[in-house]
Amino acid sequence: MRTGFPDFRLGSVLATSFTGTLSERHGNAVERIPTPHRLVDWLKVYDLAVASCTSAQLELARELRESIHVAATAAALQETLPASAVQVINDRSAQGRAAAVLTPEGERRWRLSPASCVEDALGVIAADAISVIAGERDGRLALCASPTCLAAFFDTSRSRTRRWCDMNTCGNRQKKARFNANQRKDPGSAE
Ligand SMILES: [Zn+2]
Repeated sequence: MRTGFPDFRLGSVLATSFTGTLSERHGNAVERIPTPHRLVDWLKVYDLAVASCTSAQLELARELRESIHVAATAAALQETLPASAVQVINDRSAQGRAAAVLTPEGERRWRLSPASCVEDALGVIAADAISVIAGERDGRLALCASPTCLAAFFDTSRSRTRRWCDMNTCGNRQKKARFNANQRKDPGSAE
């Protein structure tokens, strides 16, 4: 693993994992795809390997990311989707040329051709965002309960009561903060 970069937060939902490449949006924001190369690395983790990425393509990716974030947040709050965000998501979806393929195990995968470019990978991410925001998938869009995060995430838990975008980071931090607050309130109790 390369050092000098913050680690990726890996989730099971492509679109919201992608928006998670900018974390702590309401605190000290951490950019996890600071360079084109880092975007290539991230795409590879999600089976969307591309040969190269330019600075302009990284900008396209970030524009898509922020559009998904805005649209998913609106959807979670049951507000009207901002037209500009919808436009960007649709443009990226329309420009992608990945193929949906069926695996022998009966799962759907996206296949990029060997000549695939960043635009094709972004098309897959945009399509994933569309299926989540449109409510086609089994789950619920919600906002992370951490005040420095507020990321939109897709809750697929059976009870639909997940509170944090990521248990290992936001969830743990909140639990610790609550524990410390309780300790201060009542030094005799460890909850
Ligand atoms: Zn969070």
